[in-house]
Amino acid sequence: PIKRIAFYGKGGIGKSTTSANLSAALSEQGLKVMQIGCDPKADSTMLLSRSKVPTVLNVIREKQDQIALSDFVIEGFNGVLCVEVGGPTPGVGCAGQGIIGAFGKMNELKAIETYQPDVVIYDVLGDVVCGGFAVPLRDGYAEDVYIVSSGERMSLFAAYNISQAVHQFRNRGYAKLKGLIFNSKGGNNEEQRVLESLEEIGTKLAFTFPRDPIVQKCEKESVTVIEGAPESELANKYRQLASILMK
Ligand code: ATP
Ligand code: MG
Repeated sequence: PIKRIAFYGKGGIGKSTTSANLSAALSEQGLKVMQIGCDPKADSTMLLSRSKVPTVLNVIREKQDQIALSDFVIEGFNGVLCVEVGGPTPGVGCAGQGIIGAFGKMNELKAIETYQPDVVIYDVLGDVVCGGFAVPLRDGYAEDVYIVSSGERMSLFAAYNISQAVHQFRNRGYAKLKGLIFNSKGGNNEEQRVLESLEEIGTKLAFTFPRDPIVQKCEKESVTVIEGAPESELANKYRQLASILMK
């Protein structure tokens, strides 16, 4: 069976960095990984891809009916398959609706059946949990959901909302909230605030990442920590979580 995991969380909290590093770590374990960025910014796979990843929505707009999967599924680091949903025409479309359209097109073209990944990672923003952004939670897309959060109030608030959204779809789909990934920003009493919020959010702490400047160093070279600093402590932490995800 394919492992399908979604990462949700407030904007700027570290979802894409974490997703990309986990994808890279999973690929090192010999797994075929597909990472699907569900953010109009289309920067989810930036650290993995070696060339620009055309967004599904742009390809749909430009090519309409003559679309091939290879138009938007691009191989990156260690064979990780990079996909970016992209965004609607600014001021015209709705981003959530865009996700629905892009997922529909991917289904129609049998993206998963064709590439047969072992793991699919969905990187989804969590400030707006409108119907469209909840798509990965429904209809059998993601089975496991992890929320990425710092100890900041707004980040924990978003975590609570995401948890509620997962709860909403519990009966229809089968997405389960598996835990909170604490991505530290380094504020005072941050960890304590996270621990105190877990009960209300209704989940457990799955993993803790320290704030580490190696992330920015690798980001400058547009690579993951796994690729750019494979011997680092942080790389090992990503590997550790990658193993936990597959259990
Ligand atoms: P968005 O919602 O805008 O897509 P995001 O949740 O995907 O944001 P990222 O783009 O992954 O967040 O990360 C935001 C910034 O935080 C990045 O510049 C990244 O370098 C930094 N960052 C993420 N995790 C860490 C960490 N553990 N240590 C240091 N910096 C980090
Ligand atoms: Mg992101």
